[in-house]
Amino acid sequence: MSGPAEAVVDLAAVASNLRAIAATARTDLMAVVKADGFGHGAVPVARAAVAAGAAWLGVTSAAEALSLRSAGLTVPILSWLHPHDEDFARLVAARIDIGVSSVAHLHAVAGAGARLGVPAAVQLKVDTGLSRNGATREDWPELIAWARKYEVEGGIRVSAVWSHLVNAEAPGHPSVARQVEAFEEALRFARGAGLHPRLAHLANSAAALIAPRTRFDLCRIGVALYGVDPFGAMSGGEFGLRPAMTLRSRVINVKRVPAGTGVSYGPDFVTTRPTTLALLPVGFGDGLPRAAQGRARVWLGGQRRPIVGRIAMDQCVIDAGDLPVALGDPVVVFGPGTDAAWTVPCGPTEPTVAEWARWAGTNPHEVLTGIGARVKRSYL
Ligand code: PLP
Repeated sequence: MSGPAEAVVDLAAVASNLRAIAATARTDLMAVVKADGFGHGAVPVARAAVAAGAAWLGVTSAAEALSLRSAGLTVPILSWLHPHDEDFARLVAARIDIGVSSVAHLHAVAGAGARLGVPAAVQLKVDTGLSRNGATREDWPELIAWARKYEVEGGIRVSAVWSHLVNAEAPGHPSVARQVEAFEEALRFARGAGLHPRLAHLANSAAALIAPRTRFDLCRIGVALYGVDPFGAMSGGEFGLRPAMTLRSRVINVKRVPAGTGVSYGPDFVTTRPTTLALLPVGFGDGLPRAAQGRARVWLGGQRRPIVGRIAMDQCVIDAGDLPVALGDPVVVFGPGTDAAWTVPCGPTEPTVAEWARWAGTNPHEVLTGIGARVKRSYL
């Protein structure tokens, strides 16, 4: 390891996760690689996912979509979150499907298609309950009417109708059925108005795994692709997922201290016995959540050892107890883990990102995407 910390991404795990999800969902899959592949590196993850059978790549921004094309990825890409005055021509020229939720966006996208003489591939998004992007039920007829007009004129081609779920991670939640019904109604309306989208898609990871009615033609897979169980298991869970990222570092200072020694700012933690403190050059500037203070553990010398005191921007302190520790000793902050059934903070191997998320009161998505630019990514 050259720098203070390294995120080692197991691309074989990404591929195996994609295949495991495909075996359950039995639809085409879109690998969602937004936010730099949930912090894992969009291009390497996209390549691994496509090699393993992903039919689509999904991102939110034009920059993300174009960088995938620049890296040589030729599969269909959907990009879905743009300002209304985005330079859509760049996306059309790069054969990127554009998620459209409003008439204003549709005008701009169709204008770009007309100027280039190439119909823009448009994926119309309907809001079935999330109240974020997507046209509401009230706005859907107008959006569809414009889409039909622009399709006839040649500025666009509607390739899909899609939406996003509110509560897919809660098995059996009644909102899922309600959203499926609203989605089917929107689809019927679009078809009745003369649009014939090739694809309909609604499901994210959780829905792809457990909710057959949500699967339609394509499932958009984010967190499960990275090996995180969407239902909250601390490791890969029952679906055979393998967490892809291992965050590791090395001890850069060691000191033996007596009882009564304050550790880090505050100090919020004071030793109650003689102990060995090991310094780790990773802090919240690298994405270690400060909120995990008091609960967080790392893997050192074959044991889970607590991080004590406040997590600082660039460093944190491990209470190694009486464990022999030397400069340069490897530390795993989180990794794949082995036991899907952990429910207590101290398990038999390294912590997982799901445990870090629970310690910090957040979700694994936030921890993974928060791993900072200082942390070198390397790939297995
Ligand atoms: N689809 C959309 C529109 C999303 O925003 C996301 C991720 O946030 C996904 C799919 C993937 O969701 P998940 O990570 O739950 O699979």
